[in-house]
Formats: sequence, structure tokens, C-alpha cells
Amino acid sequence: MPIATVNPATGETLETFAPLDPAALEQRLARAESAFGHWRTTGFAERARLLHRAADLLDEQLGEIARTMTLEMGKPIGAARAEAAKCAKSMRWYADRAPELLADERPSADDIADSGGAGAFVRYRPLGVVLAVMPWNFPFWQVIRFAAPALMAGNVGLLKHASNVPRTALALERLFVEAGYPEGCFQTLLIESRAVEGVIRDRRVAAVTLTGSEGAGRSVASVAGDEVKKSVLELGGSDPFLVLPSADLPAAVARAVTARVQNNGQSCIAAKRFIVHADVYDAFLDAFAERMRSLVIGDPLAEDTEIGPLATRQGRQDLEDLVADAVERGAKVDCGGARPEGLSDTLAGWYYQPTVLSEVTPDMRIHHEEAFGPVATVYRVESLEEAIDLANDSPFGLSSNVWTSDPAEQEVCVRDLQAGGVFFNGMTASHPAFPFGGVKRSGYGRELSGHGIREFCNITTVWQG
Ligand code: NDP
Repeated sequence: MPIATVNPATGETLETFAPLDPAALEQRLARAESAFGHWRTTGFAERARLLHRAADLLDEQLGEIARTMTLEMGKPIGAARAEAAKCAKSMRWYADRAPELLADERPSADDIADSGGAGAFVRYRPLGVVLAVMPWNFPFWQVIRFAAPALMAGNVGLLKHASNVPRTALALERLFVEAGYPEGCFQTLLIESRAVEGVIRDRRVAAVTLTGSEGAGRSVASVAGDEVKKSVLELGGSDPFLVLPSADLPAAVARAVTARVQNNGQSCIAAKRFIVHADVYDAFLDAFAERMRSLVIGDPLAEDTEIGPLATRQGRQDLEDLVADAVERGAKVDCGGARPEGLSDTLAGWYYQPTVLSEVTPDMRIHHEEAFGPVATVYRVESLEEAIDLANDSPFGLSSNVWTSDPAEQEVCVRDLQAGGVFFNGMTASHPAFPFGGVKRSGYGRELSGHGIREFCNITTVWQG
């Protein structure tokens, strides 16, 4: 994929970028290694001062950064501003809490009495240079949720961003430089994905984290495994959204729409499979399809637009193929199912209508694959047990949403749903205080919270005789 900014609303190429040549890449790797040598010895106070400064700068530049994101990947401008604001908040969260999250752990004297030592503790030391391979869908947030904890832990970061968001990638590097971080603490590598293997194998790189597709994850994890380097993978999801008879139905419908179409439907934690109890199925499906049909499609830079284009031409093609396969095999189209008509001539980009499919069966690709766009599948079930079986009938296990006010049903869901999150009477959202990540083909390891910051630490036992 060429490294280029292409406006997905219009299809116009705004700027192209040459990938780093080997000498420039080598220079950045050397800089990262040298930066780590110093950065790892700084204290939390200095790291927090700089991260607060970067958060303040981000707030100051919020409008401009939001526009950069929208122009590159098409998310509605209000959502882009919200993403940038969430980044600033999360940077402050880690700046303030890292000392506590990474404090030395001291077992009690009783616990170590038979260890032969007079004292022992655990210290979280940084690992080194961490490579982040990141996707375009939340182009600021995905990077910041890696970078804020990694930098606070004393690591340094190298970013290989998706090839369609180079301006955002450069804006991220600029932010840390302008905040005053020492040279080399956070660098963007404008490289193609085929150059990633060499970077992971480089002796100066200690670990890698990837957010993206299963294929990219498999490839990065294989190389990291071959090099015996730590990796964290946050891959796709096809999260279930269960609606049970005790649900507040109007609230469930409203949230179902947001959960499906946020970010033009391109979110790993979007609810994608709506599994509805027969008692409320018809009412849910009618209201859900109605709301999906009424969403405002348009220019993502316009404040009232609810649905912008998909980020890439290929992304729209993949979605169209999934829908075509389902329809050929008998799925019912309750709304959408095509490109929108009636948009202005300038909006010639990668638009697709919000779509609801019902009567979906396991032989359809969409039953097992991730629909990365505003396409929902709706299933009818007769019981909670059947709902959970269907929810778990997926290669993915990122998060899950359940609408029920019955505490006994909630307990069963927490016990049985195969996912890294169970959200009741709401939709999955990431928050710095909650661990984020999945099971099965959704990946491994966790981002955010104390779990996330400790992923890239050398958890060191210190023993004193
Ligand atoms: P990719 O997984 O291809 O891209 C994510 C990142 O990985 C990009 O930086 C990409 O670089 C890089 N990459 C891709 N292949 C490799 C590789 N073999 N080795 C090293 N790095 C690699 O996502 P796409 O944009 O192609 O989207 C395809 C599908 O992935 C979506 O339809 C969706 O299902 C899933 N996805 C999931 C996301 C999530 O949030 N979990 C986010 C984005 C996509 P480059 O751009 O240069 O190829």
C-alpha cells in the first residue's frame, strides 16, 4: 500500500510520502536506542511533566488534529475531536497514576521468611524500544493508548502507522517533540508493512504491539516469536449485543445504533451481531432498522453528518463482498445493502449505507467474519442459553454487550461469554482505568489500566540476603 493521504470522502489523493530509505531508518533506530539509555533513568516526575505538556498541546491543537484525521480516514469531525480529547485525558490519567501502577511490590515478611533473604521486592523496569504497528481507524487514540503508558514506564516508542494516515502519524511525532521529549523518545517510521519484519528483528527493538487485522497480527507475532520478543496483539472483533426480555428496549435500540455505526462502523469493539430474544425480536428489529435508515450520510467535515465514508476503497469492497455473500445465501436486507444515492458529486468516495441483515445463517461468511463498516446482523433466539451459544460461535472474543436487568442473567453472562469484556445495559467503550483486549482470535495481552502499562515492563525480583 503506498504511503499517502487520500480523502475517503472524495477519493482525491492529497499527498504522497516516500518511505524511509535504509539509512534514515537506521538513523531512527540508533536514536531510539540512545534515547532509551537516558530515558529509562528519568523519574516519574519528569516523565509526567512531559506527558502533561503533550496533553496540553494536544488540547490546544485539537481542532487542527481532528481535521487531519477526518481528511485522512473519514470519521465525522465531531468524533475526531472527541477522540483527540480522550487522548489528552488518558495521557493525564497515566501521567498521574503511573507511580502508583508501577510502585514496587513488597511481599510480607511472613511470606518470604523461608526464602533465606532479609527482604525482597518486585520492581517494574522498562523493557526498551517498543515498536507499535497501528491501524487507521482511531489513528490518534490507538497510538496514544500505547504511547502514554509506554513512555511513563520508561520505554521509548517507534510508530509504524497505517499507510493511509501518514499526516496523523507525523502529527503524533510532532506532538511529543514539541512537548519537549528528548530526541528519539517517540519517532514515527514512515515505512511499508513489508519493512516491519526487519524492525522487529533489529537487536535494538525489545518488543512489539499491534492493533489491526488477524493477518497482520499473525505475521508480526510470528516474527516476534521467532526472535523471542514480547508481543501484544489487539485484533478484530465481532462483538455480540444481546437483548433480553427485561431490557429497556428504546434505550437498547438507541445504543445499538451507536454501537454499530460509531466511526462509520469501523471499530474493533463495535457491536456487530445483534442477538435478540424472540419476545422482543420484532419490536427491536423494526425500531433498529428504522433508526439505521434515518442516519445522516454526508461529508464527514460537516457537523451534522452521522455517517461518513469508509476509510479505503478496499474496505468498502470487502464489506460489499460480505453483504453479497449473505444475500446470495438467503439473508434478508432490512435496510441499506448498497451505496447511498443522492450525495453531491464531490462526495465520490467510499460510502456505504447503514445496513441491517436478518435471517443470517452459519454458512454465510458474515456469520464468522468481521464486518468492518456499518453493517449489522440480527439473530432471533428463544433463550439466554441459545443467545450465549450464538454469541460464542465466533472466532473472535474481544468484548460483548448484554441488555438485561436480571442479576441472575448477568451472572451467567459474566461466567459464560467468551470475551475480554462484558458490558451491561450500555455499549463497549475503552477507558484508561479498564483493561482492554480480547481472547480467541481477538488477540492477547491487555492495553490500558495497570495491566496495560505492565505489559512492556521487565518485572524484576530484587532479593536481599
Ligand atoms: P491491517 O491489519 O492490514 O493494518 C493495520 C496495521 O498493520 C497497519 O499499520 C498496516 O500497515 C500493518 N500491517 C499490515 N500487514 C502487515 C504485515 N504483514 N506485517 C506488518 N505490519 C502489517 O488493517 P487494514 O487496514 O488492511 O484492515 C483490514 C481489516 O483489519 C479490517 O477490515 C478489520 O477487519 C481489521 N482491522 C481491525 C482493526 C482493529 O481496531 N482491531 C483496525 C484496522 C483494521 P499498512 O497500512 O502499511 O499495510
